Amino acid sequence: MAKVSLSSVEKKALIEWRRDFHEHPELAYQEERTSEVVARKLSEFGYPIQKKIAGTGVMGLLKGEEGGKTLLVRADMDALPIREENDVEYKSKNEGVMHACGHDGHTSMLLMTAKKMIEKKDLKGTLKFVFQPAEEGGNGAHRMIEEGVLENPKVDAALGLHLWNNLPVGKVAVTPGPILAAVDEFELKIIGKGGHGAMPETTIDPIVTAGQVITALQTLVSRNVSPLDTAVVTIGAIQGGTAFNVIANEVVMKGTVRTYSLKIRDEMPKRLEEIVKGVSSAMGASYKLDYRQVCLPTINDPRMTALAREAVVEVVGEENVLEGERTMGGEDFSFFLNQVPGCFIFVGSANDSKGLNYSHHSSRFNFDEEALSIGVEILMRGIERYLI
Ligand SMILES: [Zn+2]
Ligand SMILES: [Zn+2]
Repeated sequence: MAKVSLSSVEKKALIEWRRDFHEHPELAYQEERTSEVVARKLSEFGYPIQKKIAGTGVMGLLKGEEGGKTLLVRADMDALPIREENDVEYKSKNEGVMHACGHDGHTSMLLMTAKKMIEKKDLKGTLKFVFQPAEEGGNGAHRMIEEGVLENPKVDAALGLHLWNNLPVGKVAVTPGPILAAVDEFELKIIGKGGHGAMPETTIDPIVTAGQVITALQTLVSRNVSPLDTAVVTIGAIQGGTAFNVIANEVVMKGTVRTYSLKIRDEMPKRLEEIVKGVSSAMGASYKLDYRQVCLPTINDPRMTALAREAVVEVVGEENVLEGERTMGGEDFSFFLNQVPGCFIFVGSANDSKGLNYSHHSSRFNFDEEALSIGVEILMRGIERYLI
């Protein structure tokens, strides 16, 4: 059993807050209600300073001793455009919008952590409790940084966590180095010359060209990236053509590139375009490529990870701590970790026996609420370790 110092009243409150957020999910940059609830609770707890940043973002500032270090602790608040299929009493009341990633849990955990920390009188440094909008594709973290969340006072380190249904509740993963990938997305249009399906010699077939391009793009990872590094290239959508006997004018593809290393990330767009250009030109076709780097890889700092690990061991015990949990998914906490050392922790939240094991972003996603107090305890102990 995890060692959790929260009282039963606090544990109950944590679950109540989470269910309230779950019932009222809001999409990226539209977290008006969530942000109001957060701001109201922070002032109820006695936070003198709080302000809106990055639209719906909120920050609670807890000043400790002069000259101490400053730690940023972050939760994301946004939900997803998914119609909830869970049959629970706190089911989403906002049709077509759902907390299917666990950010409702993150927000309530950070609120409880803020409440507990202000009750402690001997804080040796400063805490910034950051409630971030738009993690799901909106790069809310980046916008908060642009609006100065890391300044005044200057942030020295950052801590964050994600409820994690890939692990059972009670297990926690803390891994140094890259744990989530850089996310790039692209749209590629192959432009040919349409015509009669029986007279290919008078056309430039973009579908045949697209087939060659897709195959050649697979060599980006297998032939251009070292087998010791990690990358993914996926074409997730392809559209072209209207009839069996017509050669289309163009084919449009959408894809994503995922990488861990910044060096490979920066090489990928150029190499991808070289392949597209070479293959298209060999087939007589032309192309239009829109390539966008969405977010950075999430890279845990070794020292902050060691510190976080000590906190995690205290809470769940050595035997329940895992290392090496990584995914090619993306997380915009990466923007904080690109500026200051920090650690992002995966807190196991699945429970097979309760049917709480659907993956993140599933319309049936839900988690074991026992994970909430474990998360709060880890944050509290991590904070105390950093600010001693
Ligand atoms: Zn998500
Ligand atoms: Zn998430």
